[in-house]
Amino acid sequence: QFVLLAAVARDCPLAARSAPLLQRLERSMSSVTIPPPACILRPLEVPYRYLFGPGPSNVPPRVLASGSRPIIGHLHPEMYEIMNDIKKGIHYAFQTENNMTIAMSGSGHAAMECAVFNTVEPGESVLIAINGIWGERVAEIAERMGANVHKLVKAPGGHFTNIEIEKVGKHKPVLFFLAHGESSAGLCQPVDGIGDICRKHNCLFLVDTVASLGAAPIFMDKQNIDILYTGSQKALNAPPGTAPISFNDRACHKMFNRKTKPVSYLFDMTHLSNYWGCDGKAVRAYHHTGPVSGFFALRESLAILAEKGLEESWRKHKEVAAYLYRGLEDLGLELFIPDKDLRLPSVTTISIPEGYDWREMLVYIMKHHQMEMTGGLGPSIGMVMRIGLMGYNCEKTNADKALHALADALKNCKKSKA
Ligand code: PMP
Repeated sequence: QFVLLAAVARDCPLAARSAPLLQRLERSMSSVTIPPPACILRPLEVPYRYLFGPGPSNVPPRVLASGSRPIIGHLHPEMYEIMNDIKKGIHYAFQTENNMTIAMSGSGHAAMECAVFNTVEPGESVLIAINGIWGERVAEIAERMGANVHKLVKAPGGHFTNIEIEKVGKHKPVLFFLAHGESSAGLCQPVDGIGDICRKHNCLFLVDTVASLGAAPIFMDKQNIDILYTGSQKALNAPPGTAPISFNDRACHKMFNRKTKPVSYLFDMTHLSNYWGCDGKAVRAYHHTGPVSGFFALRESLAILAEKGLEESWRKHKEVAAYLYRGLEDLGLELFIPDKDLRLPSVTTISIPEGYDWREMLVYIMKHHQMEMTGGLGPSIGMVMRIGLMGYNCEKTNADKALHALADALKNCKKSKA
């Protein structure tokens, strides 16, 4: 019957005009039982949002355009060139000369797992500084791969002194983790001197700069940081999905002299170091298909940071953050981190104003201002609201927009007041 109808349609122009009927018939006779979903047949719609939360941040048109260039093969020589450029861009952003410097195919979590999986073996001790969600996450990652996890815990907003960290030796850890930018609490943890303490105790120093890179000074080599990672979607202003990471010689010595293989094949640095041309071998072999467009965009975002200059980027974040603090205080809001020198310039936290429902305020701001701000995360939920002005978004005009939206929400969300 179908063949007959198809033949009629081919030969008879009138029948051809009733194509939808034919398509319906074709479908009714098809072997496919799940029809194409109507939603996917509609054109893609993406609203414009002011991304003034802790990330992702808005992406500048230049970076967006770089991500829409034609795809090339992940093993083409031109792609290797681009990856080599990314490596150099990370050297600058991290202030390191480490050869073992790559970008993970994955978000910040991929870099967290890569760092832990490669440098720690099951049964080894690690010490994790926890003052927000990121220490909690790394502790869980280490627990899952069978490490013996010790924790140094503070309430969100607390920071660690070098005297407290000096006690690392007690647990004989092979790795000590610290978040430089604790984005769930809005804290910027000082790192000077900690690398030396770790060396004294023969322990690797792992630092998370996902929320702080480009916004607050960090010097991987000078500060004796053994492993450093970041994400693409914060002050770097690339789309989410790639994560720079670097290992120094101490870290390489540990991870390439292990007795067991890392639990993850995808994140195994013996393979990734070859894929990124860091192992000195002439041939780069296939390991996985890297996110080609994501690497284009990451390269462009690192180029923008290099053009602008790290010092200028740090200065700008500090200046705009200080402007935002003044505006927030003028609105009668309280900054969550009292010591301004410990505030993370990219993500500002405010205590939830008394008598207000923070969820209602955030929904109001999104609805009336198309603007994302967020609440806390993990242990800081219910304690803070977070405003992020990072990289491209780090402008006084954007601080004004955020302050205007907050003032409006304070005026109109009063109904929950006790
Ligand atoms: N560390 C910090 C400090 C972060 O702010 C984030 C993201 N909010 C992550 C790690 C995890 O990054 P991702 O969401 O890209 O996996």
